[in-house]
Amino acid sequence: MSSPVTVGVDLGGTKMVGGLVSPDGAFSNEIFRPRPATHHAMLEEPLALIDALLTPEVAAIGLGVAGLIDANGRLAWGPNIAGTDLAVRELTEAAFGLPVIVDNDANFWALAEATLGAAAGHDHAVIVTLGTGIGGGLIADGRVYRGGGHAGEFGHMVVAPGGDVCTCGNRGCWETLVSGRRLDTLAREIVRQDSGGLVAIEAGGESPTGRHLLGPALSGDRAAMAAYIDVGEALGRGLATLAVILDPQIIVIGGAVAEAGELLLSPARQAFHDRFEGAPHRPIPTIVTRHLGANGGAIGAGLAAHRLVTGT
Ligand SMILES: [Zn+2]
Repeated sequence: MSSPVTVGVDLGGTKMVGGLVSPDGAFSNEIFRPRPATHHAMLEEPLALIDALLTPEVAAIGLGVAGLIDANGRLAWGPNIAGTDLAVRELTEAAFGLPVIVDNDANFWALAEATLGAAAGHDHAVIVTLGTGIGGGLIADGRVYRGGGHAGEFGHMVVAPGGDVCTCGNRGCWETLVSGRRLDTLAREIVRQDSGGLVAIEAGGESPTGRHLLGPALSGDRAAMAAYIDVGEALGRGLATLAVILDPQIIVIGGAVAEAGELLLSPARQAFHDRFEGAPHRPIPTIVTRHLGANGGAIGAGLAAHRLVTGT
């Protein structure tokens, strides 16, 4: 008999990805599907994706959801996922008759990074995903720290009172300054001020978004580089706040925005160092980009499903 596999699915704000996960974290049969905002209330789409992945060897299912997930796998609320008080775990178990674990997608991604990625070997880590918004996972004493169930919602720390309105309804959350949405806003401003510049050329008549900044910034375009410095510094300031509370050994930055690499991390490290209490006199956490690719959340979901089965 072939060794057991699990289905791991990462259900994000704008897309979902799933695949089969081996006990060692190997990921196969990947399925990627965009997820229009109009479909957010529906669980049918992730269930259809799971159904497409099922084989007789599947022993359990892990489903990561971008939102507040309680210890029973119930979605309490999610700023990027419409729907409240949804019994995601129970509904998924009922649909497939297999053990199911449901958690916040960033927690699953943190588990994967801590098990076989950039934070492997570290007992204390902060994992920050920069996507549409900010997701977070916290590794404390080698395990994902959940607090009362919803720990790690770093993106909604209020860092700029009176700032921009966040998807959560508050103003000035960290993710209003550090996210794909923020880069989208900066890209639009750059094109408005310089309709003939490299960013405008990169956008090619489309509405400018953050992904139109990367090429120009790598080519040395000053406006695009300044956008990454703006976001990177806000990233570093927020990380310094987290680090004085949590004292991690390593900070891992992931998500689509992290593809900018040193354009973002270099200003983030400087801003972090400038604000980290007692920086010259204590170990400074390493700030690195993720090791796992965009499938990290789905891999973590699958790993958690293996642990569910083995009771580890
Ligand atoms: Zn918020």
